[in-house]
Amino acid sequence: MIPVKGYAAQSPETDLAPWDFQRREVGPHDVQFDILYCGVCHSDLHQIKNDWFPGIFPMVPGHEIVGRVVKVGDHVKNFKVGDLAGTGCLVDSCMHCENCAQDLEQYCLEGNTQTYNGMERDGSSPTYGGYSTSIVVKEHFVLKISDKLDLAATAPLLCAGITTWSPLKHWGVGKGHKLAVLGLGGLGHMGVKFGVALGAEVTVLSTSPKKEEDAKKLGAHHFVVTTDAEQVKAAHGTFDFILDTVSAPHDFNMYLGLLRTNGVMMCVGVPPEPAQVAAFSLLGGRKSLAGSGIGGIKETQEMLDFCAENGIVSDIEMINIQDITPAYERMVKGDVRYRFVIDIASLK
Ligand code: NAP
Ligand code: ZN
Repeated sequence: MIPVKGYAAQSPETDLAPWDFQRREVGPHDVQFDILYCGVCHSDLHQIKNDWFPGIFPMVPGHEIVGRVVKVGDHVKNFKVGDLAGTGCLVDSCMHCENCAQDLEQYCLEGNTQTYNGMERDGSSPTYGGYSTSIVVKEHFVLKISDKLDLAATAPLLCAGITTWSPLKHWGVGKGHKLAVLGLGGLGHMGVKFGVALGAEVTVLSTSPKKEEDAKKLGAHHFVVTTDAEQVKAAHGTFDFILDTVSAPHDFNMYLGLLRTNGVMMCVGVPPEPAQVAAFSLLGGRKSLAGSGIGGIKETQEMLDFCAENGIVSDIEMINIQDITPAYERMVKGDVRYRFVIDIASLK
């Protein structure tokens, strides 16, 4: 076994604290990489707090992981010692169901294996995430990371990036479309960057008036403060797409009202409680309410390659692992500009 240092929650009631554990030995198809940076996703907080379902504890969060390869198994083809590597939300899947066969491992019909708060395919070994010094991952689930981009700012692409990229590509968002990005946090700011890069006219819908200047710097064309009834009224019936990245309960009916006829609201945010949706909000204007979960491995690599070609990374605030609790507190207040990234050197 490989000894690793990490930060774990021992229960939903306790703060993260140092916790040493062991990773499996590198198998023939595995890549081991030492973690240099790990992004902090709101899903980390949802999961350590049991917001969605009872978690597996101790829990080492983190699924925006980048680092450098230190060992590869005998059958590994695409990585060698010294390469940059990354891992997102997935570390395994059945690899043979209808969805896996179409590079949609995130929708594996037998259930994918999440990077943390999940079980390996043996059904009994818990997975531990990127708030740790090293990780062992099956090669298929390891991403190539370009050395052209700032490495720390690349980490959030592994979740916030792919989660916003995948629905924009699936629904063909681009030139001639009016896209609204709801919530300017980690996911939202990547949604703005991708929406702009794909040619859409982008509006940020935000509860935080003070983020307007940032939204414009990120490339957004318009900004609507959603707590201002007049501004919301003026936006009524104007968007082809809304990318909903909000982490807390909010009024879906109000936002569906902002769509044009045939508009699509793409939900990627996962509030702890279910939303109430009136059929009337959908049928007037033949609107669609849809969802999207992260992205498959092939699509994640395509997104990373697009980012390397177009110089796209996340806007980050680097923290030491010892500051994770205050970082979570700021995240709950919507005060993230626009992704915390942990410098894993602070853990060593
Ligand atoms: P984040 O950085 O905390 O951003 C969320 C943003 O939502 C906030 O910055 C805030 O933006 C807005 N917001 C917060 N509370 C709100 C409220 N009560 N009403 C309206 N807006 C509110 O979180 P994140 O890391 O981007 O994650 C966002 C959500 O996506 C989380 O629920 C996360 O679990 C989920 N997620 C889903 C997937 C997937 O596969 N679908 C993948 C990753 C994450 P403003 O200040 O602009 O209002
Ligand atoms: Zn995430």
